[in-house]
Amino acid sequence: MASVLQIVDLTKTYGSVAAVDHINLSIAADQYVSLLGPSGAGKTTFLRLIAGFEEPDAGEIVLGGQRINNMPAHRRGIGFVFQNFALFPHLTVEDNVAYGPLNRDGGRAERSAVAKRVRDMIRLVGLGGLEDRSVHQISGGQRQRVALARTLITEPRLVLLDEPLGALDANLRESMRAELRAIRERLGVTFLHVTGSETEALAMGDTVIVLDGGRVAQIGVPGTVYDCPATPNVARFLNRYNLFRGTLAGDVFMAGAGRFPVDGAIRIGGDTAKLDPAYAIRYDRVDVRSTQAIETPEEIAIEGAFVASEYTGATIVSFFALDDGALFEVEAHLSHRTPPHYTEKQRYGLVWKPQDAIVFS
Ligand code: ADP
Ligand code: MG
Repeated sequence: MASVLQIVDLTKTYGSVAAVDHINLSIAADQYVSLLGPSGAGKTTFLRLIAGFEEPDAGEIVLGGQRINNMPAHRRGIGFVFQNFALFPHLTVEDNVAYGPLNRDGGRAERSAVAKRVRDMIRLVGLGGLEDRSVHQISGGQRQRVALARTLITEPRLVLLDEPLGALDANLRESMRAELRAIRERLGVTFLHVTGSETEALAMGDTVIVLDGGRVAQIGVPGTVYDCPATPNVARFLNRYNLFRGTLAGDVFMAGAGRFPVDGAIRIGGDTAKLDPAYAIRYDRVDVRSTQAIETPEEIAIEGAFVASEYTGATIVSFFALDDGALFEVEAHLSHRTPPHYTEKQRYGLVWKPQDAIVFS
């Protein structure tokens, strides 16, 4: 697959903080790429370096085969959509979108020449019929689409989006996810979308990049990142795994909550990459049973006291307090099971199969 963007050893430090720390990666053309990481991971700095709003300390930024390190931001052919997109408040939807093309190259473009492109773009982002509305007469989600249209009409080679859905409410965020993917597909341009939400990153990305402390922790298709997180931190950001710290003693992982045989588990790290030892079991791979009928010889079990459950649409997540105080989460997909009913403070067996666990070492 052709690569649109190559990043070679890119580094940016602020004082003693390496915000972007020797990043190397290549992004294929015509893809939706999610960039996931906790707050402070360097996501915004990374985008700002690519866009040309910040200068790297070292490294290369190559766009479409051309090194663009020293190219001014406005000449890079890169679009940027922020969370707090600033539209011109006194202009209509149409005039906001037309502003760039009309004022490019010293404002020589004819209004009639850009009018069709502006109308097509407004339709493409789903705002047909709202051309003459002032931008404060439309909703937050619609304003976000105006910001997107205003960027896309410049025909960028790459669009950078920095938590663009962060300011929207939950319902709108969900529908905008599908919209953004559809718009991108129609245009065939690459989107690099920064998000702090693991759900968003996994749902939207053809590829997911996980940043941790200014470094790339993992790059892969969502399924691989989800099933095989490369480090304990990636597993933690995904917010789908119970993570135990401890030590590996031969074939047994010794955690505060128990001793887990690791035979059959997925092993990550090992001899190639030394990781802090951790044991991970996905929320939805755990069975809850009474303490009388705990486990078969092929299973691993611990005990926890039920705290509370939380419905999240198609699933229910139940929280159990372990004896060392840690919280353990179990997710049940409601389509497969009847909703579980647990009694508060009662102890339950939390049971899983060794082959469903991941051991980092
Ligand atoms: P993210 O977008 O993932 O939350 P940022 O790129 O904003 O992360 O920040 C990464 C790190 O760099 C943080 O420790 C942050 O405090 C620091 N940082 C970012 N921008 C600046 C700046 N202009 N001056 C000093 N430190 C900065
Ligand atoms: Mg940021």
